[in-house]
Amino acid sequence: MIPERTQQRSYGNGGGGRGGGRGGGRGAYYKALYGGGRGGRHGGPADGDGSRLSAAADGAWAGRQPELSGLLQSLDGKQYGLYKQLTGRRFDFGGFALVFDRIQSDAYAPPSKMRVCVAQHAAQYPREYYSTKVRAVASAHYLSQQVHRALGQLQSDGPARTGATGWQSPKGGALAIDFPGQEVLERTSVTVSDAGVEVRLTAGLPASGRTILGGRAQRMLLDVLPRMVEQALLFSSVDRDEMMGVVHCVEDQEHLRGLLAPNNLLAFVGNGAVLPRSSGVSNLPLTAEGTVPFQSPESMRVSFELPNRGRVEGMGIPRGVTLVCGGGFNGKSTLLQAIERGVYNHVPGDGRELVVTDAAAVKIKAEEGRSVCNTDIRAFINNLPFGKDTGRFCTADASGSTSMAASIQEAIEVKASALLFDEDTCATNFLVRDRRMQQLVPPEDEPITPLVSRVRELWEDMGISSVLVIGGCGDYLDVADVVVGMHRYAASDITARAKDIAHATPAAVAKAATAYGPVLDRTVSIPRELAAHKPPRAKTRWTISLFPGGSLEAPPQPAPGAEAHGMADEPDALPELDLSALDQLVSASQTRSIAHIIHAAAQDPRCKTMRELLAEAGARPLDRLCSESSVAGDLARPRPIEVALAINRLRHVDIRAPKQH
Ligand code: ADP
Ligand code: MG
Repeated sequence: MIPERTQQRSYGNGGGGRGGGRGGGRGAYYKALYGGGRGGRHGGPADGDGSRLSAAADGAWAGRQPELSGLLQSLDGKQYGLYKQLTGRRFDFGGFALVFDRIQSDAYAPPSKMRVCVAQHAAQYPREYYSTKVRAVASAHYLSQQVHRALGQLQSDGPARTGATGWQSPKGGALAIDFPGQEVLERTSVTVSDAGVEVRLTAGLPASGRTILGGRAQRMLLDVLPRMVEQALLFSSVDRDEMMGVVHCVEDQEHLRGLLAPNNLLAFVGNGAVLPRSSGVSNLPLTAEGTVPFQSPESMRVSFELPNRGRVEGMGIPRGVTLVCGGGFNGKSTLLQAIERGVYNHVPGDGRELVVTDAAAVKIKAEEGRSVCNTDIRAFINNLPFGKDTGRFCTADASGSTSMAASIQEAIEVKASALLFDEDTCATNFLVRDRRMQQLVPPEDEPITPLVSRVRELWEDMGISSVLVIGGCGDYLDVADVVVGMHRYAASDITARAKDIAHATPAAVAKAATAYGPVLDRTVSIPRELAAHKPPRAKTRWTISLFPGGSLEAPPQPAPGAEAHGMADEPDALPELDLSALDQLVSASQTRSIAHIIHAAAQDPRCKTMRELLAEAGARPLDRLCSESSVAGDLARPRPIEVALAINRLRHVDIRAPKQH
């Protein structure tokens, strides 16, 4: 059932998706239209309100909100700017209220923002649907999918779909919600609480040229919107079992994550899990014939009792150093990617509902060209040409190996529990230096201490685990605790064989010449120029425009002591923050939150350590990330680690090691 629906969800963009072909949606639609539906509404004085809501027939809404109806009618044919009078207005529909938070200035501006608030006495969700934060987040995720689907159905033949272009052709007229993906995140689009359900929407207010189309606005706000509320937001019209299924599934994942550390595990991959995705650019499960569900090797099998699902079995990846080995195209990277995403909870039907990873596991990749500011990478890199300092390494253009060294140190600084590597995306010279290379290039001429010489120290001295997908670097067999073999997408425990081979054919992994050394808490200060300007804007999931909508007249000056780097060669380029290496950043809504956090940090004159900054941002409600965001319906909570990774990639940021260093 779910893949079909998720397919539809994933490609919609606020109204594009057609009916998912699931009976429940249509049933809910007709039920809402003609009243009735399943009994069992949860008693109490609010019943009257709720049934009035679902009894409303076509066109009856205008009667319920004559003021808004009259206003929109009076605006018909007038100048677009007159829509502005809706700003801040609240209209009560009897059962729910519509609040206009921001009104666009013209039809081409970013869409207007509004909120629908359904009081709990009308929505009637039993407390068990939102009694804990995890439950409330899961319910909100479910409801945002329902809103998205209802809007898609209600608007599929609407005026916004005429496809006409040109100045005088109608613009706007479609409501949209920030679309949630496969990962269940805390979001601002929908909240469920004792107060009720609040949904934040955007809409292009309809116009032709600069002229208001009042009739279309009436249809959107007095017909489509109330029907959406009826179909998607009332407890009486949602599929309560399906909704509770999402709540239970998410709660189980959260519970399972809590069981990992006490059981000395880093990750759990459940039997039956579907790890591959339907394509390289999709986050939906592969449904093709020949998909091999995951099965744990017998020797690695663990089982847990979950609060809702009961007993589950699967592969436990222990803390320590784990390799995933096997021939090419046999499912190694797919397994690692599932583990990367296991830091988040997934929706039922995703295939990875039982792939759960410690919340502080971090993927590390080579990232040529990234900037680095005052990161101590001496554990991995020393004696660079021309005496370049690697104790406070700064560069505007890191190499593959220096970028990996910096990313590891920055992850450890913010208390990463585990590092995840895929040989496919690592710099080979950072991973290993084999016996022959050790002979050809003497140690004093090689700045790099490869990861293979550090990975045990990371675990034994610092408690940081590693999972490495390795296809070619056999030296790692010497340093692994566990080796998982992937063959034709099936996992096996090949640790014993790997140990035998390591014993019979020693690889001569060189010992690191120095101790790893401490990773210190550095202080961060974000360039003030960022605070003076409009908030940075997430253009995509991977790109934040730091100075949106303007030319950069005075590029920020590099901090004293930091290297001069950046735009000198390209005076016209507006700086962007490139987050494409952050594989565990899963939603543009998270990226938008990161942009707000950076802006707020730039406004704060106090010097903080990176960890203090993250703790403050993490403690702030999503709505308070910055002054503007209280009306934003398109934010999702990022992991603190991704916030740190983003700040570390800001060019011109001033990050300093503590004085004693
Ligand atoms: P490797 O990293 O070992 O080279 P990948 O993980 O990239 O291999 O997988 C190769 C291909 O096999 C991908 O197209 C992936 O979607 C597919 N694949 C991976 N796991 C499975 C599975 N369990 N069932 C079916 N196809 C799979
Ligand atoms: Mg691979």
